[in-house]
Amino acid sequence: MSTIIVIGAGMGGMTAAARLAVKGHKVTVLERAAFAGGKVGRHERDGFIFDTGPSLLTLPQVYRDFFNKTGKPIENVLNIVELEPAFAYQWADGSRAVLPGADTARCADALGDALGGAAASEWRTLMARAADMWGLTRRDFMEAPLQGLKPLLRLAMNPRNIRTIAPMTSLRALGQRSFSDSRLVTLLDRYATYTGSDPRHAPAALATIPYIEQTFGAHHIAGGLRHLADQVYHRARERGVSFEFNCSVQRITTSHGSVTGVLTTDGRHIAADKVIANADAGTVANELLRGEESTIAARLNKRSSSLAGFCIYAAVDAVLPEVAHHNVWFCDNYDHEFDSVFAVGRQRGLAQPVPDPTIYACVPQDASMAPVGSQAWFILINAAPHGHGAHQVNWDAPGLAQAYAENVLTRLAQRGVDIRPHLRWMHISTPADLERSTASPGGAIYGTASHGPRSAFTRPANQTSVRGLYLVGGSAHPGGGLPLVGMSGAIVAELIGRANKSD
Ligand SMILES: Cc1cc2nc3c(=O)[nH]c(=O)nc-3n(C[C@H](O)[C@H](O)[C@H](O)COP(=O)(O)OP(=O)(O)OC[C@H]3O[C@@H](n4cnc5c(N)ncnc54)[C@H](O)[C@@H]3O)c2cc1C
Repeated sequence: MSTIIVIGAGMGGMTAAARLAVKGHKVTVLERAAFAGGKVGRHERDGFIFDTGPSLLTLPQVYRDFFNKTGKPIENVLNIVELEPAFAYQWADGSRAVLPGADTARCADALGDALGGAAASEWRTLMARAADMWGLTRRDFMEAPLQGLKPLLRLAMNPRNIRTIAPMTSLRALGQRSFSDSRLVTLLDRYATYTGSDPRHAPAALATIPYIEQTFGAHHIAGGLRHLADQVYHRARERGVSFEFNCSVQRITTSHGSVTGVLTTDGRHIAADKVIANADAGTVANELLRGEESTIAARLNKRSSSLAGFCIYAAVDAVLPEVAHHNVWFCDNYDHEFDSVFAVGRQRGLAQPVPDPTIYACVPQDASMAPVGSQAWFILINAAPHGHGAHQVNWDAPGLAQAYAENVLTRLAQRGVDIRPHLRWMHISTPADLERSTASPGGAIYGTASHGPRSAFTRPANQTSVRGLYLVGGSAHPGGGLPLVGMSGAIVAELIGRANKSD
């Protein structure tokens, strides 16, 4: 059995830790913050409760599997609520669609009722293709260790599979080919942001995201998604994982190409046979390993950072009836939004806060998350990462955050929902704040963006070339978001199991 250090108590780190502890390994998690959960945070004040990270849980079976494999089922500790309806979308022309929860056919019908024309049949056709994409990629790629381009080459043996996946096609191009209504193109575009990417460069295979959402449902956890992180933490503790908080790792130590442990910022060397890094993969390569493992750095240097998020937690002293649990008000010019966030196109080399952004708001239809007669609005705006480079915005610039938040609320009012007269208070969290609280570079939500046909195959792999060093979490394979980081935890546990058998 191994002595294992996990750097970081994010969802990837904790799920890997608990799975390995069940197998009898001695596992210690070192976390620089004072609490577990990483990006799965919470803000609470005056009876208002906000999930400051994820507000949507898709593919709950990933966590169902985690809880089953580590002890009692998820239902024993969490109340998972399937949302109905799930999303309300409003486009720039004022048209609006309210989509039910799990059922692609019903979602297609709702889109048809709202948008008319061929919307229902075109959406249904694309979702059928996305189902095939998911069938082709789930087991061999998403749930398996990264094997370079091998899965793509295997798929290429059958031209029909290649036509389905369309690896050279962007999500935007797929939308334009599939839909006669530009509003559906916009709707599909938005799913690129679930991986922090620009739909004009993200692969068509991301059409699996709406398929998954609409097939397996959009879920909430009663009391807020933060409870998922709390329960994963408790499960890890129950299984014997040790946690040390306020403990930052400054260096991963190696000898002759094998990991030997970690050095903490307070000067301790902690020996380990295996180290699992849940910190950002770029930070691992450039800072914790100081460039010793060149493959991770080489892969990352070619990729752009994922988008970050500008967040407003708004305590609203009224119940605005027209909102659903998840709400999206699309902007008029999505291209300008992505140009501003990624500093491309018209904004080449000049990232900026999106002047007239798409506005997402989670207004939990959960009485336990706001006082009676009130609503807790979590507003999230796509944003460039924090920093001083051409592809970043200095979110710490005096007055910027407050002025931008006011702009967002004004834009929301222009789209028909004015929360300003009911605003008891608002709290702002910028990409700079996320960077400080989770050590995510620039506050990027998903590590690096999925841009280009080979992006999914060239993320940093979970097993590194340093023997005994593994990567877990959103910046490694298979990617960011709760389901994928949970999968990465399972993959790393499996890889360590295999490595120990062959030792
Ligand atoms: C605003 C926002 C909205 C989101 N919305 C959704 C959503 O609706 N649905 C969804 O599925 N996902 C969503 N996500 C993404 C999801 O939260 C993340 O993909 C996931 O939680 C990341 O988990 P992780 O394992 O990568 O770890 P992280 O959460 O990145 O945690 C890494 C941990 O490592 C610690 N650490 C880093 N460096 C060190 C070091 N040197 N020493 C010790 N500790 C260290 C950090 O402090 C942190 O606790 C959202 C995220 C954000 C921020």
